[in-house]
Amino acid sequence: MVEIDAVLLDVDDTLYPVTSGFSDHRNGEVICKFMVEHLSFESAESAKILRDEYFQRYHSTMKGLTIATEEGRLPKPFKQEELGQYWADHCDFAKFIRADPRQIEVIRSLAQDVGLKMAVFTNSPRKYALRCLEVLGVREFFPDDHVFAVEDVLPACKPQPEAFKAVLDAIGAVPERTVMFEDSMKNIRACKANQKAWRRRSREAAKRRGAKPRWP
Ligand SMILES: [Mg+2]
Repeated sequence: MVEIDAVLLDVDDTLYPVTSGFSDHRNGEVICKFMVEHLSFESAESAKILRDEYFQRYHSTMKGLTIATEEGRLPKPFKQEELGQYWADHCDFAKFIRADPRQIEVIRSLAQDVGLKMAVFTNSPRKYALRCLEVLGVREFFPDDHVFAVEDVLPACKPQPEAFKAVLDAIGAVPERTVMFEDSMKNIRACKANQKAWRRRSREAAKRRGAKPRWP
């Protein structure tokens, strides 16, 4: 049986339920307000159309707005550092999400009793992600260097393999022994592909050394 030594947790719609409505709130009224106030969009409607178009393509609002700036699609250039702060300040966390004692205990136990390497990896910006972890009561289990936001992996982001590799390398983990909790099927497929590629490389390396391959 394969031993697990690392756990990678997504944040949005994973550490809180999609049914909470929090992502609709953040990716709806809050981001539209940001785009009107900071990027000079004429209306929330026009902001939403552009945000959704770029999110569909790049799976991250931060990355999408960065590329939209490069492609000249925004009335005013997007500054990456403004989004995380805006979401941290303007999302109504208390209305939509709250700490779940059962979830806190599971994460605490995996980190402290089992001693797994625990990391958070999100396509959202850092300041916002940290605020989420605080509200959900799990911030203390993830030291700063085990919280990976989109700024830490740009220009890649999930589901690109180089983004996962950067995070796993940073915490000293390998795909084959890592469990990922994630709501996005695209990201789960990318992780599976990483595991297969890692297994193939391990087999090839074992063969070169004349050793018995560890993985079937
Ligand atoms: Mg998610």
